[in-house]
Amino acid sequence: MKWEKYLVPASLDEALKTLAEYEGQARVIAGGTDLVPQLKKKERTVKCLVDVSRLAELKGIHHQDGLMRIGAGVTHQQIAASPLLRQTAAALAEGAAAVGSPQIRYMGTIGGNIVNAQPAADTAIPLLALDAEVEIASKEGVRRQPLEDLYVRPGVSKVDASAEIVVAFRFQTLHGKRGSAFARLAKRRSLSLPILNAAAVAILSKDGALFEDLRLALGPVALTPFRARKAEEALRGQPVDGESVVEALVIASEEAQPRTNPLRGSAEYRREMVKVLLGRALERAVAAAKA
Ligand SMILES: Cc1cc2nc3c(=O)[nH]c(=O)nc-3n(C[C@H](O)[C@H](O)[C@H](O)COP(=O)(O)OP(=O)(O)OC[C@H]3O[C@@H](n4cnc5c(N)ncnc54)[C@H](O)[C@@H]3O)c2cc1C
Repeated sequence: MKWEKYLVPASLDEALKTLAEYEGQARVIAGGTDLVPQLKKKERTVKCLVDVSRLAELKGIHHQDGLMRIGAGVTHQQIAASPLLRQTAAALAEGAAAVGSPQIRYMGTIGGNIVNAQPAADTAIPLLALDAEVEIASKEGVRRQPLEDLYVRPGVSKVDASAEIVVAFRFQTLHGKRGSAFARLAKRRSLSLPILNAAAVAILSKDGALFEDLRLALGPVALTPFRARKAEEALRGQPVDGESVVEALVIASEEAQPRTNPLRGSAEYRREMVKVLLGRALERAVAAAKA
């Protein structure tokens, strides 16, 4: 056995108390799709696993007054299948639909995807473009912080899963002249690492002609999920279909730092593909905003 105890608390309070009792020797488990392989490979050791999959506080996709709240225990399958998310945060629904395979999407959760902290996690990139906030519970109470501030380096986030529980993600929904989209480049459609992934949020002027605002996210082109802020800056206030889009994509490909990787291709190739992939996401986000 890789662990001595497997506990399934019935409430968030009970889960936090159990974690506290083990003083760093227990760890949260949700779908287990990342954690179980890590435990098997002895990349991590724990005495006790605290299963959060029954916690009501971590469930549900709720929309109120323009604010979306998605429980950390919501699975990729639930996100991909949500008509509400397809309509108001399409980039996230598309990102979740691209994860692994049906088995992984039915087990894996958005909370686990974020805490596992991979720079190309398929829900992290759209959540970054959606400017999401994370709600984290500990025995000290609940804190909220921007998703962007959660990452340290590949595989390491600021959530201490031996003492803290991610409860939910929150972001503004996109309606009116706002739209989003996700794009992914991989060797095949399922069970394949992304060579690159990209998400775009476009907020257009009333006549749909200008970028009032926009957010562009990319992975894996840095140690953490990456916002292409220089490209965003270059496009703010510019026409949606002018030369400025081409120029902004060049800027994004320069500020991104993809590395040569035997599985993902050369840095030069991936830098070129930043323009293509981000261009596709942005074009679809603009089309959604105009629709
Ligand atoms: C074959 C395969 C293919 C995959 N393909 C993809 C892919 O295409 N794209 C992609 O992005 N990912 C992929 N993954 C990775 C994985 O499936 C996802 O990251 C998944 O979302 C993890 O969620 P989980 O619920 O299984 O997390 P778990 O494995 O249960 O946990 C992962 C980490 O998060 C912590 N954790 C989980 N929930 C919480 C919480 N609520 N609060 C605090 N800490 C928490 C755990 O302690 C652990 O450190 C793949 C994995 C496998 C095995």
